[in-house]
Amino acid sequence: MGGYFSELYSGAISLLEGMWVTVKEFPKQPVTLSYPHETVKMYRRFRGHIELIANDEGKPNCIVCGMCERACPSGCISLAGEKPEGSKKKVLTKYILDFTKCSLCGSCVESCNFKALQFSNEYNLASTRKEDFIMDLLKRLEEQQK
Ligand code: SF4
Ligand code: SF4
Repeated sequence: MGGYFSELYSGAISLLEGMWVTVKEFPKQPVTLSYPHETVKMYRRFRGHIELIANDEGKPNCIVCGMCERACPSGCISLAGEKPEGSKKKVLTKYILDFTKCSLCGSCVESCNFKALQFSNEYNLASTRKEDFIMDLLKRLEEQQK
């Protein structure tokens, strides 16, 4: 009989302790996020896939020198450009990244001397389709500028 009351007592104490923790924590701000409705703000140095940087007019800074394409050890980058009539500068017409092969080594970003390339903060990537990781970065930039 003594064991029964002692178990009852320790159960009640444990229940009160649990309730005290709940009461104490209840008014505090949550430390978790309602993912995927809310997303985490990534650290500045986080390396997502690369992305193009736009100038003040919303056009890519890229001058189509091809350095990033040559610097990539995995052959992830495929780009093209053309010279509009009467212009001395080339304009970027295609910039495709095959993210399935990218090791995020950073050679492409380091090789760009025109502030045209950076790592994105994109971490929210999930798909079962390989094609979803073949990225049209020029189209992405245009959509971001809208
Ligand atoms: S290195 Fe920079 S400027 Fe040259 S093609 Fe690549 S992104 Fe464009
Ligand atoms: S981060 Fe490295 S592997 Fe990825 S595209 Fe750039 S150079 Fe290629």
